[in-house]
This record gives sequence, C-alpha cells and structure tokens, in this order.
Amino acid sequence: MEAVPTKTITMRLTGIQYLAHETNLYEFEPIAGEAIPAAGPGAHIDIYLPNGMIRPYSLVHSGTDNRYTIGVKRDAAGRGGSACLHDSVKVGSVLTVGVPRNNFPLVETAEHTVLIAGGIGITPIWCMAERLKELGRSFELHYACRDRRDVAFLEKLEKLSEARIHIDVEAGNFLDLGALIDHAPANSHFYCCGPAPMLDAFEANTRDVIPAMFIWSGLLLSKKSRARGALSSCSRNRAANL
Ligand SMILES: Cc1cc2nc3c(=O)[nH]c(=O)nc-3n(C[C@H](O)[C@H](O)[C@H](O)COP(=O)(O)OP(=O)(O)OC[C@H]3O[C@@H](n4cnc5c(N)ncnc54)[C@H](O)[C@@H]3O)c2cc1C
Repeated sequence: MEAVPTKTITMRLTGIQYLAHETNLYEFEPIAGEAIPAAGPGAHIDIYLPNGMIRPYSLVHSGTDNRYTIGVKRDAAGRGGSACLHDSVKVGSVLTVGVPRNNFPLVETAEHTVLIAGGIGITPIWCMAERLKELGRSFELHYACRDRRDVAFLEKLEKLSEARIHIDVEAGNFLDLGALIDHAPANSHFYCCGPAPMLDAFEANTRDVIPAMFIWSGLLLSKKSRARGALSSCSRNRAANL
C-alpha cells in the first residue's frame, strides 16, 4: 500500500536502536523543536524516504513526549523502503514525516482486552499494551515469533505479567488462537496484528464467536503484500471500520 499524501513535518532522526533480528527502533524529533501532534495507540506515520518511497510505520510511542518512535523490520523481499531506512538513513538525517493517522484505534474502556501480535506486528500492539497498563485496565498480550531472536521488547515483556511469548520453533507449533479466544472473558475486545496467516486464523476464530457485523478488520497492506502482514481487530461490543 502506497501512503496517501498528508500534512507533513520535517524531522531529524535522533536515534537508532537494535530491537530484534533485522529490526531497529528509529526515533524522530522535529528539527525546530516545534510541538508535534500526539496520537493514540494504533496510529501510524508515513516516512518519506531518500529513495523517493513513502512507507507507513506504526508508532511505538504515541508522540506524547514530542518525538515519534517506530520499529522497522528489514524486508529482504520488499521493493526497498525498509532497506533504505536500514542501510542509508543515519542518525542526523532529516526526513519528511506525515502526521499520525489512526486506522487501528484502541478502545480504552473495554472490560478486558486481548492483544495478539505476530512478528513485527508487535509495534502497535506494544503501544496499546503500554497504554492499557498505564490506565490500569484488564488485558492480556500474546506475542508469537518464529524464533527467539525475532522477539522485540523482550526484557520489557518478561517483566509484564500480562504478556505471554510464544516461540514457534521452541513450542513446535503456532500460537493456538482458537484456544485463547475461547478462554477470553465475555465482553473482551480483541486486537490482532501480524502476518496474513495469523490474521486469517484470527478472523476465522472470531467469526464463529462474534457476529460478523461486530468484526472489523483492516487490510493495511496491498493484496500482493498481504502475504507478509496485515492488521486486524474486532470487538464483541461495537462495529467499526478501519
Ligand atoms: C499502517 C501500516 C503500519 C505498518 N507498520 C509497520 C511497522 O511498524 N514496522 C514495519 O517494519 N513495517 C510496518 N509496515 C509495513 C511497511 O510500511 C513496509 O511495507 C515494510 O517496511 C516493507 O517495505 P519495503 O519497501 O521494504 O517492502 P514493500 O515494497 O512494501 O513490500 C512489502 C512486501 O510486499 C510484497 N511485495 C512487494 N512487491 C511485490 C510484488 N511486486 N509482487 C508480490 N509481492 C510484492 C513482498 O512480500 C514484500 O515483502 C506497516 C504498514 C502499514 C500499512
């Protein structure tokens, strides 16, 4: 999915930090120190890359401290957006950044929230978990990765009592979405962000227990790229569209 032109801010890349295998955190601050718009969990920003590509990335922090932080996985099969960020953009680089937009908003008042992430899909989900923790809300976080080296925020997750990490190669299977959805308390809200097979499993399992009109999902990548990742969420309580 190519990004849609939107209002932009000129920002400096002020920090790059290792997050997981082939995945870095990138921190941006406005060059003139001006106030930047904050956004809720689930929001994303468009990064205008030096190679002319524009790529959307979920905010890991929602901009409340006047900076935007994103986590980007290098996609060897991609057309060069993530590779450009990993290989060509350095601390100090000045880039154009779109103001945040939110197609994956978090309901902060749910009785209970089930957060499900796979791979790099953790970025908006982590932001949601931090927010729910801050609010003292009831939630659980299930995070699946193929390999332990792919796990982002590992140290923080290990300290988060609500978090469960599933490593496919260690467990010998995929995360059982059906079981965790079945065991969720009534009136739970569900959010899922991960690769397409996980999203398909999520939709198949929620479809059986939640009326179709209350399931909402957003295809945030094109059909071609859906083989790699998509975002989806649903709720027993409301209908919404991404
Ligand atoms: C709202 C939103 C939030 C996102 N948040 C994040 C995030 O937090 N972190 C993150 O790492 N990524 C995120 N992404 C994905 C990100 O925008 C980029 O798509 C990703 O970094 C790959 O960029 P790329 O240019 O390397 O690959 P792209 O060119 O975007 O390709 C991505 C994938 O699409 C497929 N593809 C591309 N071209 C073709 C083709 N011609 N034929 C068949 N398949 C093709 C390939 O499977 C490829 O791996 C998000 C996407 C959206 C829409």
